[in-house]
Amino acid sequence: MAKTPKQDRTCCLCGMQIPNGEFLLTGAQGSVCGNCLHIANDFLRDYEQHNNIRNNKDFKVKLIKPHDIKAKLDDYVIGQEEAKKVISVAVYNHYKRIMQPDNDEVDIEKSNILMIGETGTGKTLLARTIAKLLDVPFCIADATVFTEAGYVGEDVESILSRLLQAADYDVAKAERGIVFIDEIDKIARKGADNPSITRDVSGEGVQQSLLKLLEGSMVNVPPEGGRKHPEQEFIHIDTKNILFIASGAFNNLERIISERMNTNAIGYNKKNHAIDKSNMLQYVSAQDVKQFGLIPELCGRFPVITSLNPLDATALKQILTQPKNALVKQYTKLFKMDGIDLSFSEETLDYIVQKAIELKLGARGLRAIVEKIMTDAMYDFPSLDQHKIEVTADYAKEHFERSIFSFLDK
Ligand code: ADP
Repeated sequence: MAKTPKQDRTCCLCGMQIPNGEFLLTGAQGSVCGNCLHIANDFLRDYEQHNNIRNNKDFKVKLIKPHDIKAKLDDYVIGQEEAKKVISVAVYNHYKRIMQPDNDEVDIEKSNILMIGETGTGKTLLARTIAKLLDVPFCIADATVFTEAGYVGEDVESILSRLLQAADYDVAKAERGIVFIDEIDKIARKGADNPSITRDVSGEGVQQSLLKLLEGSMVNVPPEGGRKHPEQEFIHIDTKNILFIASGAFNNLERIISERMNTNAIGYNKKNHAIDKSNMLQYVSAQDVKQFGLIPELCGRFPVITSLNPLDATALKQILTQPKNALVKQYTKLFKMDGIDLSFSEETLDYIVQKAIELKLGARGLRAIVEKIMTDAMYDFPSLDQHKIEVTADYAKEHFERSIFSFLDK
């Protein structure tokens, strides 16, 4: 008598008889043993990885508490306490949101972040440090290179190509990454009193295109970046869980904030609250950013707005010495490899800071200045028979000025 599939304990893949009590997956047309399922699972994973098919279940992000995120940021970023706190919370919530089961009734909204502050105050450094800390793919895009689809320039989708590249073409990983969009203020809408007759292909049009990425949609991405070609095969990326961090200097935003807050010349508003006029950016709101020229829909996609403070001399000096990879620590290490105990006198550090301020280079210029001072030292010191060398202010001054003059002579 023929056995019914229910009684038959033969695996239809390997043909083995599976004893009672051992695992057997029974379907309408036959059964598969546990061993074959394991093998099939490995095949499936290889196939999905090879073909970039998403397999979200395998991907895990480290959930780090806000205090711990902030403590890690402190290792690399000097000052900017408020921004560090705001970003720590936003990132924590973002990754909690990702871990939320799909069928949850309460939908936690995404916390994309907008950072506003002068150039060289640590905006990129903050975003980069966060990505490193969470061990997720990270890419930087400059908003000024984008144009509306169909015009000469890069399409905004190329941002996702870069993210995909940073994720080694693992789509699931890229879909949990962080995208940093710099210079977002440069694509602000032109003033209403100055309407352009031609199409605004690098302003509002780009904002509209960006909106599509930020809204959490399935985006067709050309694998190699750049412009789309009809014959190219696209990779589909879901942007729902990608964290977007935008940043910009937003020149003259202070004036808009001041007007909204009705601040008078000596720093009080109508309700007689004292306002710190030296740092108006700390009071920034979505309304101000809208007035600056970001379209309301785009502002709405950045629920978290924070500002970074200008860096004063004290902060610049700390940047030279305190972060884990501070410049002074890097040079000290380089010389240690030659058996030289290198140090910088306090006056030398003050001189470097003073030059960075004078040349209006901020933190970004510290490296260039130190590099100019240290080039000769790196050439000469290893050949000297000295094991302890201090870089004095006189040495710094002589070598920095010489390098500036040689530069100006050219
Ligand atoms: P931006 O605000 O223009 O994005 P960056 O983050 O690129 O500025 O800063 C430029 C460089 O200056 C960084 O690589 C870092 O070395 C230094 N820097 C700027 N701000 C800070 C800071 N707050 N703490 C430590 N280093 C900083």
